[in-house]
Amino acid sequence: MKHRRSIGVAPPDRHAVEIEKTTLATLAEWFVIYARCHACRHQTFIDRRDIARRCGHDLSLANLARRLRCHECGNRSGNLLLLQMLPRD
Ligand SMILES: [Zn+2]
Repeated sequence: MKHRRSIGVAPPDRHAVEIEKTTLATLAEWFVIYARCHACRHQTFIDRRDIARRCGHDLSLANLARRLRCHECGNRSGNLLLLQMLPRD
């Protein structure tokens, strides 16, 4: 079963990440995480090591998305996680 609705990815064929199963520990290290507010579209970088320290390495990306709260407007619902792949060299 795929849960793709709450994550924004590009290009989709290279970012096949199942957010319900993927945790901070299992997400490949070349991904960086951003969050975008559903209400005001504020976008911010998420330090995955900081989140892992505070919430645990076994937190799934889906659960992380549900915990997000916008620093700008305080919105807590419908916020998106965005994954960006770092260049690998
Ligand atoms: Zn907001």
